Amino acid sequence: MSNALFSYEKPVNDLSRDYAPGSMDRKRLKEAIDEICSRVAEIPLIIGGKEIFTGNTGNIVMPHDHRHRLAVYHKAGSSEMKEAIKAALDAHSKWAGMSYTDRAAIIMRIAELIKTKYRYILNAATMMGQSKNVWQAEIESASETIDYFHYGVHYMSEIYKSQPASENGAINCIEYRPLEGFVYAVSPFNFTALAANLPMAPVLMGNTVVWKPATTSLLSSYYLMKIYAEAGLPAGVLNFMPGPGSVGSKVVLAHKDLAGVHFTGSTKVFNGLWKGIAENLDTYKSYPRLVGETGGKNFVFMHSSADATETVTAMVRGAFEYQGQKCSATSRCYIPASRWDEVKIELDRMMTSIKTGDPRDFRNFVNAVIDEDSFDNCMKYIAYAKNSPEAEIIFGGSGDKSVGYFVEPTVIKTLNPHFLTMEEEIFGPILTLFVYSDDKFEEMMDICDNTSPYALTGSFFAKDRTAIRKAHEKLKYAAGNFYINDKSTGACIGLQPFGGGRNSGTNDKAGSQLNLLKWVSPRTVKELLIPPRWYAYPFMEDE
Ligand code: NAD
Repeated sequence: MSNALFSYEKPVNDLSRDYAPGSMDRKRLKEAIDEICSRVAEIPLIIGGKEIFTGNTGNIVMPHDHRHRLAVYHKAGSSEMKEAIKAALDAHSKWAGMSYTDRAAIIMRIAELIKTKYRYILNAATMMGQSKNVWQAEIESASETIDYFHYGVHYMSEIYKSQPASENGAINCIEYRPLEGFVYAVSPFNFTALAANLPMAPVLMGNTVVWKPATTSLLSSYYLMKIYAEAGLPAGVLNFMPGPGSVGSKVVLAHKDLAGVHFTGSTKVFNGLWKGIAENLDTYKSYPRLVGETGGKNFVFMHSSADATETVTAMVRGAFEYQGQKCSATSRCYIPASRWDEVKIELDRMMTSIKTGDPRDFRNFVNAVIDEDSFDNCMKYIAYAKNSPEAEIIFGGSGDKSVGYFVEPTVIKTLNPHFLTMEEEIFGPILTLFVYSDDKFEEMMDICDNTSPYALTGSFFAKDRTAIRKAHEKLKYAAGNFYINDKSTGACIGLQPFGGGRNSGTNDKAGSQLNLLKWVSPRTVKELLIPPRWYAYPFMEDE
């Protein structure tokens, strides 16, 4: 056995490429896009390392060109779900027993493969499958995924290093055991990096996993599975189970060996999982760990001392990048009346220059929303605003789903700070703003704090230091990620650990040590060097 003590230093975040015209990166990415578009992939389940074709299939299409089929996928049913749980349990002792340096080597090899060989194809699958422009794909499906793996290995070693003192003739240690049983990972469509991290964070800590990926992002998820296999992840450690979540969850939640759920998605689905676990509580061998990062209604709050151009840039990037489908997307704004004219001019300048369309045309800033349900949902909110005496659509307001699911970037101005679109998560390119009277600054912050059930991200723009300090305090629980003079999106692994409270989730900060600690069950071991040989204590002796 090797006696080397490995050192996994704090990594440097991956440097995203810019794909400028004429660059080699752009050329290779375009070749990868052509490759993805030229064939229809077949996506199986993967159980115990074996590809399973159930014959119960569905289609994966491009959101921006929905007649173009990218893949056909096989759906898992209850019996396959049971097999996947068995495969995860069978693989558990071997994977949990493997040296953590070997586990780390596999994870670092995955990061290296994404950084080099698979960067373009993973970005291309994300661009075509999830309708992302090249920058939105690069910063997450490549860079953020790489960061999750590099930081994961570093934080894992920091956790293992954290040990109690040994004194008074004893040696003490904490062994960070993987959980007993299997972990159920359920990922959302919007980030390939989350599809990577949700199952792989528990895997990194020695757990085995049943993974239910989101249907609309299956193409990039399947590429991840291929990369893991190439990097040497043993069969059964991660089992890939496309299909309807409700079918799989029924089997998983009723299983006695369910050790944890790692979820990101809507609050409604997470609440359903939590309730399902509560109903099955008497069944389990251990209390399952529950980690869920869920919805948001993220704000930009402008103070009268703020710079209008900087604030509006943050609003436009925060609200419309990736069509407002980031959990951290800005969807409500508070603008002081004294600055509204300036803000309106800047909004006009930026909104009228935005191009929307297919991500294969690199000039497009906004692409399609993920599917028809999402398109219809966005148009329903727009129609509601159009018909309300309390709201006015000041930019956008139209949509077209004939070729792709394109919703025009839309700004609603409302007279009611509790207007429906100020309160509910829409998950599309729709921003609602409320203009407040400057003398109601503090009252407005209270309203901002109490308007929605969520508390994920929020931005405050000001130059006045007293105002910044006040917002810092008053909005303490309004967001798990709070930005001063920056947009509400764009958290980086290792720099701004991400997650929110209230109905936005359990706030376990994806990609951080806090999250990794959820996937271990520590065992304290004390070894006494010279055990006592008589039971009585000195106080018991005669006076
Ligand atoms: P979603 O809740 O519709 O789906 C998430 C996953 O749950 C998918 O894989 C889906 O198939 C699965 N699912 C659906 N019903 C299920 C069931 N009964 N049992 C098990 N799984 C089930 O969310 P989405 O549309 O993929 O993603 C958008 C949502 O995710 C938004 O609400 C967004 O705010 C949230 N989100 C939050 C964060 C965060 O960090 N807080 C990050 C990304 C996305």
